[in-house]
Amino acid sequence: MDELLIITTGGTIDKVYFDAKSDYEVGAPEIGKILAAFAAAFSYQVIPLLRKDSLELTSADRQLIRSTISQHAHRHVLITHGTDSMIETAMQLGGMGDRRIVLTGALNPARFQGSDAVFNIGCAVGAVQSVQAGVYVVMNGRVWEPHKVRKNRAQNCFEALPD
Ligand code: GLU
Repeated sequence: MDELLIITTGGTIDKVYFDAKSDYEVGAPEIGKILAAFAAAFSYQVIPLLRKDSLELTSADRQLIRSTISQHAHRHVLITHGTDSMIETAMQLGGMGDRRIVLTGALNPARFQGSDAVFNIGCAVGAVQSVQAGVYVVMNGRVWEPHKVRKNRAQNCFEALPD
């Protein structure tokens, strides 16, 4: 793989909670720490683009994500993103040429023990090196095409859309 471009947009993966108020803020990206901790054997560049819960992303934010990708020549792109509107963003990143674009996130903050962040990032890094050009959502150990997946909010997981 050539250098991996990593764009972070916020979401629960980067959330920091303050127990006293049960309040949170979206902190600095966790992905760089995770890749360093597991001695990732590839080069990467992290662009900390946004720090938003994905329910608050606007169409201007999504345009910004798209234009940021366009401004870089990287063929391999990984985006960390909140899970609630990850699929919507993925749908808007089509038609970007030869790029392999993978979106992932976490249902629990990376700072929490038992978080799915490391699992999802590992799956996403593997996927981005293996897939054909296009846009993919990687969650729950699967590589999904955006129009074939949905988030099941009751069960807090991603699942195939019924045919
Ligand atoms: N509202 C959150 C978001 O989409 C859901 C939790 C998450 O990030 O997975 O940012």
